[in-house]
Amino acid sequence: MSKYDVAVIGSGPGGYVAAIRCAQLGMKTAIIEKYNTLGGTCLNVGCIPSKALLDSSHHYEDAIKHFEEHGIEIPGEIKINFKKMIARKASVVEQTTKGIEFLMNKNKIDVFTGMGSFKDATHIEITGDKTKTIEAENIIIATGSKPSTLPFITLDKERVITSTEALKLTEIPKHMVVIGGGVIGLELGQVYRRLGAEVSVVEYMDRIIPTMDSAQSKELMKAMKKQGVKFFLSHRVSAVSRKGDEVMVTATDKKDKEIIFTGDYCLVSVGRKAYTDGLGADKAGVKITERGQVEVNDHLQTNISNIYAIGDVIKGPMLAHKASEEGTLVAEILAGQKPHINYNLIPGVVYTWPEVASVGKTEEQLKEANVEYKSGQFPMRALGRSRASGDTDGFVKILSDKKTDEVLGVHMVGARVADLIAEAVTAMEFRASAEDIARMSHAHPTYAEAVKEAALAATDDRALHI
Ligand code: FAD
Ligand code: NAD
Repeated sequence: MSKYDVAVIGSGPGGYVAAIRCAQLGMKTAIIEKYNTLGGTCLNVGCIPSKALLDSSHHYEDAIKHFEEHGIEIPGEIKINFKKMIARKASVVEQTTKGIEFLMNKNKIDVFTGMGSFKDATHIEITGDKTKTIEAENIIIATGSKPSTLPFITLDKERVITSTEALKLTEIPKHMVVIGGGVIGLELGQVYRRLGAEVSVVEYMDRIIPTMDSAQSKELMKAMKKQGVKFFLSHRVSAVSRKGDEVMVTATDKKDKEIIFTGDYCLVSVGRKAYTDGLGADKAGVKITERGQVEVNDHLQTNISNIYAIGDVIKGPMLAHKASEEGTLVAEILAGQKPHINYNLIPGVVYTWPEVASVGKTEEQLKEANVEYKSGQFPMRALGRSRASGDTDGFVKILSDKKTDEVLGVHMVGARVADLIAEAVTAMEFRASAEDIARMSHAHPTYAEAVKEAALAATDDRALHI
């Protein structure tokens, strides 16, 4: 039987990063993945394929809507070859997952393909082509998550679908009814809207992306409405049925008025849930919470001292970079180091256009905690860079402590803010004040100037260009 210092179950951005860091630190490492390709949800059916389709559909939208204003004329009709768009996405996924195989090889990590299941706290049975058992001194559970649904919905995966199917449709929907105005609903809703589908987003709360700053919810909804997406907020979905190629989604609004949405596809995007099916956690004695997550302490250690868990399968935001940070943390703990994650500074991004990005506390959270703060906001439309590219939607908002001026939260909507948020994370990691950011030189003309201007606005209400 093969013996390892560490075995990682699951090869998503949590698991594969944990494995690489363990190997870098000199541990003999194995990784177990039930699918034939490595990379987990993120690389196969999450971050990467969704961004590939967002980019392709964005190019198409630019070509049909914006090229002309730039003086670019394309004779003849601009058409979508949807099959090719999906094939390109598949090829991006393939290159990326192959990259993980290369990294496993490079770091001399043994890869086992098959379902990993605890026999006890140090032995894992792997059921693949052949059944094998391996022994490991330490085990990291990185089994990720699966889409959630509502109790009355039957996901037939043809017409009533999750993100996984929405990433490999064979036709462009005529009318996609999206249940849930969160990250998945908005990113994939925007993809299909750009490609010509009617898209109706039915959201239970009174705003979209309800966990982000409410100013971002408003700004993104305004921009997406201009793009033709329809929103039905404060609507509670009560039934979903299918008749042939038609799906019917029944919802009631705040006044208890019933409305039926009829479409050809219904995307169910109401969140994801931790995945531990078939893991045999009970055989190792690992505690699972009522919400189905693996319970961990601050060191991401389960109740069984040699078993750790990371990523979507534990508490916290379900984000690839959060999973990866946790993978690194556990590897370093196993190597005897004292690593730390600042959970307050895990940025959140929605890759719609305009993009949405956040780090730290929202205005709602600061009010709730009775923290006295200052707010500085700068609109993208006042930037030369935004006017040059034609991306004038959005803003940067900086919230800082009223007394100390320390930056407490940064919330952005606009072009490339997914990348701009890194400046805010860096500043906050070093506990910068708004004035620190305001005094730093930002290249001109860039979208990043909005960060400086918002910092100036927060410092002394002294933005220069508004
Ligand atoms: P996963 O990536 O889910 O990986 C878990 C792996 O474990 C899977 O490969 C699974 O097959 C395997 N596994 C499970 N059980 C077993 C077992 N018993 N034996 C062997 N293998 C097992 N996050 C972002 O940060 N940015 C984004 O842009 C983004 N976009 C997304 C878009 C979509 C459509 C979706 C669905 C998610 C997106 N996410 C995004 C979320 C991101 O994908 C997850 O947060 C991330 O993948 C979690 O990583 P993980 O390693 O915890 O788990
Ligand atoms: P989400 O939690 O982002 O959004 C779910 C939405 O559904 C919420 O707005 C919620 O209020 C709404 N909802 C819940 N029940 C409802 C009901 N009965 N009727 C109508 N609306 C209802 O979840 P998601 O969009 O499914 O994404 C799942 C996870 O994947 C997220 O936690 C996210 O972190 C991750 N993800 C991240 C990215 C990214 O980082 N860009 C992209 C996609 C997914």
